[in-house]
Amino acid sequence: MEIYKAYKFRLYPTDDQKRLINKTLGCKRFVYNHYLNYLKDNNSINRFDLHKDLPKLKEENEFLKEVDSTVLRSAVDDLSKAFNDYYAKIKGYPKFKNRFSKQSYRTSCIKSTYKEKEYSTIEVDLLSRFIKLPKLGKVKIRGFRNKDKIEGKILNATITRESTGKYYISVIVVEDLLVEKVITPTSIVGIDLGIKDLVITSDGIKYSNEKVLMKFEKRIKRLQKELSRREKGSKNYLKTKEKIARVYAKIKNYRKHYLNDIANEIVNEHDIIVTESLLVKDMFKDKKKAFNKSLSDAAVSTLRSLIEWKSKLKGKFYYKIDTYYPSSQICSNCGYKNSKLKDLSIREYDCPECGFYNDRDINASLNILFEGLKLHYNLESLV
Ligand SMILES: [Zn+2]
Repeated sequence: MEIYKAYKFRLYPTDDQKRLINKTLGCKRFVYNHYLNYLKDNNSINRFDLHKDLPKLKEENEFLKEVDSTVLRSAVDDLSKAFNDYYAKIKGYPKFKNRFSKQSYRTSCIKSTYKEKEYSTIEVDLLSRFIKLPKLGKVKIRGFRNKDKIEGKILNATITRESTGKYYISVIVVEDLLVEKVITPTSIVGIDLGIKDLVITSDGIKYSNEKVLMKFEKRIKRLQKELSRREKGSKNYLKTKEKIARVYAKIKNYRKHYLNDIANEIVNEHDIIVTESLLVKDMFKDKKKAFNKSLSDAAVSTLRSLIEWKSKLKGKFYYKIDTYYPSSQICSNCGYKNSKLKDLSIREYDCPECGFYNDRDINASLNILFEGLKLHYNLESLV
């Protein structure tokens, strides 16, 4: 099974390298705008033929030969994608790029063999903290101090120049992971996903969400207040904006590790894992907590995909059940449906039929478990 990973580094180019990066950004804009203009005037020209035209454009504009040629090709790909999005009605008609739009370019990694030695146009050396890039040569990087090399094959790298003048590089890597043999399941778990507790398992284990977020929420609020006092576009405004971006990056990083730990624990301990397919029950719950809400939604979908691919990797089973199944209203013991439980302030399931009494979320996760069990054996009998 192949998985894609992105490694993002801060880049420290020398003055000469900065000049070349800026020139490359300019050339990428030139190619993009040239063909956008070209297509505007020549409706009959097939945009898929632009790659064939690129060498001619380079002959006519010698300065294009001074920069990384894969970047120019990626500019054509980007334009092609912009048109695809336009025709698919995802985005508007492609716009010309100017110096003020986001400044980045993508360079593809090309591999070759010479005298039985393998060469690659992009190489990351984490020990001496350099990245080798086409035309630029070795550029100093910072990040991933905990690793001594990056696993997998490098596909491409995107170099970005921020408005603050800082440079970053994001290296995309594909890793081929070994999938284990499908196992005979001996344990199953149902998982209820929520906001306050991100995860409630049918074993009664809870993973909280709020504690982590509250700390960051305060900081974000304070910075947003600070931002509103700043003059738009001023140096201090940009500084505060960068601080906010840094807190969000911290949240993202923290969450990534936290979610990874949760997914590992769950997949290591169980063979069949069941969750709901969507998170709808909290949709109308608490509009004031929009901050937590948006982060929780993202956390839930990340967690689900982590569980999904980790299960696949370990030869285990993962099922998503229909969200419209009323998991919180049904008694997991006798199947009685109690509509009173639509009221989210009721925290316990107290069954009037059979006397079953438990935490409402644990009851829900037990129902999810049973639905998953049905799915698993239906699927198996079909095979
Ligand atoms: Zn009952």
